[in-house]
Amino acid sequence: MSVEILQDLNKYAKALVNSGLVVGAGGNLSMRDGEYMYISPSGFDLKEIEESWVKVHIGTGEVLGDLKPSSEVLMHLECFRKNNEIKAVLHAHPTYSVGVSSAGKDILPMFPDFPAMVKRIKYMDYVIPTTSVLADAVSELIEDTDAIVMRNHGVLTVGRTMKEAFFFMQLIEEAAKVYYISSTMGTPRVLTDEECDELRNLSAETYRSKLLQEKRE
Ligand code: 13P
Ligand code: ZN
Repeated sequence: MSVEILQDLNKYAKALVNSGLVVGAGGNLSMRDGEYMYISPSGFDLKEIEESWVKVHIGTGEVLGDLKPSSEVLMHLECFRKNNEIKAVLHAHPTYSVGVSSAGKDILPMFPDFPAMVKRIKYMDYVIPTTSVLADAVSELIEDTDAIVMRNHGVLTVGRTMKEAFFFMQLIEEAAKVYYISSTMGTPRVLTDEECDELRNLSAETYRSKLLQEKRE
């Protein structure tokens, strides 16, 4: 595995835990490396993986090495198989996103960065985790999507870089939090479709989105 991929995996695995987007042994992440992906091992505290990333062939699903890959390995494989532009896949259990979506609500745009950055977000009703049923459901939705909110479970984000996938995750959780706070204070004033389109068309926002998709130094 290249040094850059190892650095990104460890950096964002720690960031997921430190940002509170997962607790315990929840969540998993992977990156594409040619015909292979490297994915977190099952049941690990993501902060403690270091060198123990599991190499899996994207086409065949063959697992190399002795460690067991994440139990969501099929879901990650489907993301890489469905869209060649996807280089990074993240799955977490963010509190507010799970809370809001499990009440049957969508996470609505309340502040500019959310609609400006996360342009394509889909929702999925509960499907039993770690199964091919979940991987098939993800496969149906992932081709033209930045994120899937899985009600009663968590969130899946994908990116052309791990940083992009991570920002999507953070922004979705922040949006769910703001929407929740606003709902408890009164009636949220949600950004309109026109306001969201206007934000996405700003040259300042196009620049910021593009920057996230570019490989690091
Ligand atoms: P793993 O530890 O097997 O990756 O499972 C965590 C998880 O989030 C299951 O959905
Ligand atoms: Zn999960």
